[in-house]
Amino acid sequence: MRTITYLFPIYNEGGNIDLLHKTVSEVVKPLEDRYRVNFIYVNDGSRDNSLELLNAVADADDRVTVIDLARNFGHQLAVTAGLDLADADAVIIMDSDMQDPPAVSLELIEKWEQGYHVVYAQRRSRQDTAFKKATARAFYWFLRKVAEIDIPENTGDFRLVDRKVVEELRKFREHNRFLRGLVSFIGFKQTAVQFDRDKRHAGVTGYPLRKMLRFAADGIVGFSAAPLKLISKVGYFISALAFLGICYVVGVKLFLPATAVPGWAFITSAVFFLGGIQLIMLGVLGSYIGRIYTEVQARPLYSVASVRTATPVPNDARA
Ligand code: UDP
Ligand code: MG
Repeated sequence: MRTITYLFPIYNEGGNIDLLHKTVSEVVKPLEDRYRVNFIYVNDGSRDNSLELLNAVADADDRVTVIDLARNFGHQLAVTAGLDLADADAVIIMDSDMQDPPAVSLELIEKWEQGYHVVYAQRRSRQDTAFKKATARAFYWFLRKVAEIDIPENTGDFRLVDRKVVEELRKFREHNRFLRGLVSFIGFKQTAVQFDRDKRHAGVTGYPLRKMLRFAADGIVGFSAAPLKLISKVGYFISALAFLGICYVVGVKLFLPATAVPGWAFITSAVFFLGGIQLIMLGVLGSYIGRIYTEVQARPLYSVASVRTATPVPNDARA
């Protein structure tokens, strides 16, 4: 019998845990004659009574594992801790505030049964503040423009990942991680399921603006060299301005010998020239730093989906 694990990161979800576990237990009932289903709850240093509630859930249900992180490490690392421990043929990652409707997980499983390795849930609509929607939209637009990988729009971490992909993910040990980017980076057969994202059931968001900005930076800096390349682009632009200025200064000197070269033109050209050269050189440094960054991230070079070896020729057939 194959195993499916539901993985929930928990940060101050005291008002949601009981309802969540009840709902998910109900949803998975039709699966239980085909699969062994279990649950991993990762308590990410909650400051409310989440841990007690989780322990009570685990007391009542022996399919439940609770990982209690020593402090708040953040959503992405909480999910990582769960993925590191999971021993399942498929792991379903979900938010714990009932924004990701548990029933949708059955559709994810259906796609997985059709042979997909990653099934991400894509939001058809979402019940969030206008601010959250607008910033998310702008961020994904920008990320898709600059990132070196294809990150699907309107997806969060709500997704199903096959064991193969979980095993690959474990090889990525970078600290500032953007999991949904890593999942795209790894590859394998991926597909989407559409869903309508609900409102948070109880409690407040664990992603205030400060955390959201850091998360956005992890996504962009982790998967794009665009900020580094911008340095030299600005350098070339300023150098071009300096070149125009120099042409003007030389032009005045050659063709209007009676007029003195205006002081501002001379100084501006010199400043732009120096500034341009410095930025271009910073860009050169940047391109080496970019390579160092890639090396220290120490990501696996590739992920193998399968290997089909050559069939060995039996000895007696050779004679
Ligand atoms: N979360 C976490 N650690 C954190 C912040 C959030 O484990 O530091 C969890 C949280 O409990 C929830 C999920 O990550 O299950 C998504 O967080 P939240 O719903 O607060 O974010 P939003 O939906 O507002 O973006
Ligand atoms: Mg939420």
